[in-house]
Amino acid sequence: MYEHKKVEEEILKFWKEKKIYEKAKKKNDGNPTFYFCDGPPYATGQIHPGTGWNKIIKDAICRYWRMVGRDVRTQPGYDTHGLPIEVKVEQELKIKHKHEIEKYGIEKFVEKCKSFATKYIDVMEKQFERLGIWMDWDNPYITYHDNYIESSWFTLKMAWDKGLMHEGIYVLPYCYRCETTMANYELEYDEETDPSIFVKFKLLGKENEFLVIWTTTPWTLIANMAVMAHPTFPYVKVKVDDEVWYLAKERLEYVMGLIGKSATILEEIPGRKIAGWEYEHPLQEHIPKKVSRKVVLSDEFVTLEEGSGFVHTAPGHGLEDFIIGKRYEIEAFCPVDSAGRYTKEAGRMFEGKNVREANPEIIELLKNNGSLIYDERIKHRYPHCWRCKTPLIFITTKQWFITISKIKERMLSEIEKIEWHPDFARDRFKEFVSNAPDWCISRQRYWGIPLPIWICERKECRKIKVISSRDEIPNVKELHRPYIDEITFSCECGGVMRRVPDVLDVWFDSGNAIWAPLDEEEKKKFGDVADLIVEGQDQIRGWFYSLLGSGLVRYDKAPYKRLLMHGFFVDEHGEKMSKSLGNFVPLEEIIEKYGADTFRMWGLSNTIWDELKFSWEEMKICSADLNIALNLTVFLERFYPKKKIKEAKLEEEDKWMLSRLNNVIKEYRKAFESSEPNRGVKILRTFITEDLSRFYMKIAKDRITKEDNPDGALWTVYNVLLNSLSMLAPISPFISEYLYRRFFSKYEDAESIFLMEMVKEREEEINNMAEKQMEIVREIVSAALLARQSAGIKTRWPIRILYVESKSHETIDATTAFEKVLRTLTNAKEVKVVEEPPSGNFCSCDFSNGRVYVDKKIDEELYEEGIANEIKRRVQNLRKIENLIERNVIIVYIDTETEIEAIIKRHMDKIEDAVNAKKIEFKKIDRMKEDIIDGREIRIAIQKVK
Ligand SMILES: [Zn+2]
Ligand SMILES: [Zn+2]
Repeated sequence: MYEHKKVEEEILKFWKEKKIYEKAKKKNDGNPTFYFCDGPPYATGQIHPGTGWNKIIKDAICRYWRMVGRDVRTQPGYDTHGLPIEVKVEQELKIKHKHEIEKYGIEKFVEKCKSFATKYIDVMEKQFERLGIWMDWDNPYITYHDNYIESSWFTLKMAWDKGLMHEGIYVLPYCYRCETTMANYELEYDEETDPSIFVKFKLLGKENEFLVIWTTTPWTLIANMAVMAHPTFPYVKVKVDDEVWYLAKERLEYVMGLIGKSATILEEIPGRKIAGWEYEHPLQEHIPKKVSRKVVLSDEFVTLEEGSGFVHTAPGHGLEDFIIGKRYEIEAFCPVDSAGRYTKEAGRMFEGKNVREANPEIIELLKNNGSLIYDERIKHRYPHCWRCKTPLIFITTKQWFITISKIKERMLSEIEKIEWHPDFARDRFKEFVSNAPDWCISRQRYWGIPLPIWICERKECRKIKVISSRDEIPNVKELHRPYIDEITFSCECGGVMRRVPDVLDVWFDSGNAIWAPLDEEEKKKFGDVADLIVEGQDQIRGWFYSLLGSGLVRYDKAPYKRLLMHGFFVDEHGEKMSKSLGNFVPLEEIIEKYGADTFRMWGLSNTIWDELKFSWEEMKICSADLNIALNLTVFLERFYPKKKIKEAKLEEEDKWMLSRLNNVIKEYRKAFESSEPNRGVKILRTFITEDLSRFYMKIAKDRITKEDNPDGALWTVYNVLLNSLSMLAPISPFISEYLYRRFFSKYEDAESIFLMEMVKEREEEINNMAEKQMEIVREIVSAALLARQSAGIKTRWPIRILYVESKSHETIDATTAFEKVLRTLTNAKEVKVVEEPPSGNFCSCDFSNGRVYVDKKIDEELYEEGIANEIKRRVQNLRKIENLIERNVIIVYIDTETEIEAIIKRHMDKIEDAVNAKKIEFKKIDRMKEDIIDGREIRIAIQKVK
């Protein structure tokens, strides 16, 4: 195996010292552009192999486009704002609550966030570079830079001017630990244990009659404002003990089974007849809120899968409840503060208590006043904060929104114009966009792009000003909190305008990544639409969405033309790979063991959108494939002349090889150009290992050693290998560059393989007919080798005649066209096509259009030739072991039985010639190598004479 570590480190050094990346970019200056936009990861330390895979896909595609002459933009980026960073800094400062940040000082806190956000950029950069990723590492885009902030402000200003931004009250998922709202795409569903209770609500004006409801969030009962029923489901009035209960007919058996009681049905009522019934809040004595609470109807949010068929409705604590509340003009009562504690409005009993922690107390109260019917714990999927894992609650808050509802139709029609790889990504994305609510972009935090919105504090005025650049505000140290908070404007009304203290959802930052990093000159060159983005499938809810939303707001179009979505990187069993699960393989370990080239080839062979299952075994195969490229180059080094072969007469097999090459180039380019490099990688691997190395090289070596038009073979191997390395370069750049520099650069002008042009197919060299014929020949060869095997005749031993029995014209033509190839590869003196089986003692083997025959008997002449070949091979091996080169002359010593000795003597000249021996002596000396040929003992030794 080749020394990947040495090779890769040497090439890294070469690229750096000779500025090859810069030269490769400069070469295409002024050519058509290719704008690749790198989705910014967080710089949080050592990269996950999955992050490495992500960058490798990007790198292979960008290297390809650069090699075909495009002026490719490859600036890496880092996401630096937002909760992920704040949470890390909180941990470092041992801060548990948001108010402690203000006590610590926003300025100091923000400074810490800033230094944390860039602390690991160097670490990650080094790892990316080690993987051979070519990007502008000296000049990444950083989302916290003022220029970036300004560009994001500009987008918001456009939204405001176009009427696509509004402030509103909304029920949103909320993390009371981080004290901020979450966008729907930030929710992380995990298993959570919660109470599951059935409760009776007493009907007003009826003696001893109750509605049965069910909830898993007892704390929201405080804010209960209504009960939903389905208009067409049948409900039943039942007698249980001495009470009368109402619930859905279909849920009766389940609920009764749960509580172990029997019920007598008194009446069946359709849901719509229950509408308007008034009931009493079960904890009314503790809650100051006194309103008329009624049954309302909803055909969309009441199901019969769980619960009782009546749905407890708290419009302040649930999105569906909120929608129904609006429909029936019910107040979105939300007696919960920003820290997740009940407010005074919840009543003295609850005020100040954390809502989730109040669950047991509420259950206890319901039990004591007789309202509780059933109480158990269940495990269910529940949304959590994606950063701190706290279970989320839903509360109403005032927030700022991008009015997605107004641009949704445009978003959906723009999606159709984008080129999707794979196709199903488009469908998934469309579904997500179709269901997306307005985009809540405000966050009640510190480290982020400040909302550029100022509002007049006078209640009767409330005038709003949105700014789009630094020029519109007095000079500040930087565009972050708290500096920006100090800026006020005076309003026309005489009041003071103050900034809305919120920062932006961090997804809004990356949503601007296509234009925010570009300076004026680059904007002219690359425009405002990226040619390609490449990210994982989790970005359907993330970056793909925030980019599209921002693009529609800013330019009324999708900001990317082509999208490639990759799968997840998982362990060999398909499980997520993480340190906490103990199945993590660090990137360093992979690089140490197999090198970056192997990891790249392995990752790029996987169908991009399937999950990539980690496998040492597959990596080993990739490594062996790369080793083949090395061996081929070493072979050329040995036999290729000092002067480049400019022209040569080509044999049929050489022309076939070139035809294959050109077909492979064609397919390879198609694959890369349609952003599906994996297809190109597979085609190329099969070509190098099967067509070139295992097949064509056998014929070429035979010709080169037998001096049978060696120039034609050498010319072919040289060109095919160089073209293959050109295609291999975007995939495994180190070894391609290494082999180019080690051998080919002596004959070619380019300093680096990346300064050469990517090979292009030459249609005139493609001969599909010849390729088809060679397929047949390869089939016949395999059959012949099997027939030899059953006859017990090794491939080295020549056979007199290979009979090919076939009536197919295609087969006959193929056999004729490649007769010499057939002879060489089956080691036959003659190939005969026959219509009837030959008579005699033969071993045969079928192929799809016929059968081959090999005579079981070896004739004496051939037998002797076989023995001579065996001797040659063993002597050559000894030469190899002793590291002799072509021109070293040897003496061969052989000790064996007389019959074999006689054969050797009859072939002495030929053997001596083949192994460059001065003479062969038959005598026993020290340290002879013992062996067996055709069941007879033989001992051989060699001695170098010059
Ligand atoms: Zn949180
Ligand atoms: Zn005003």
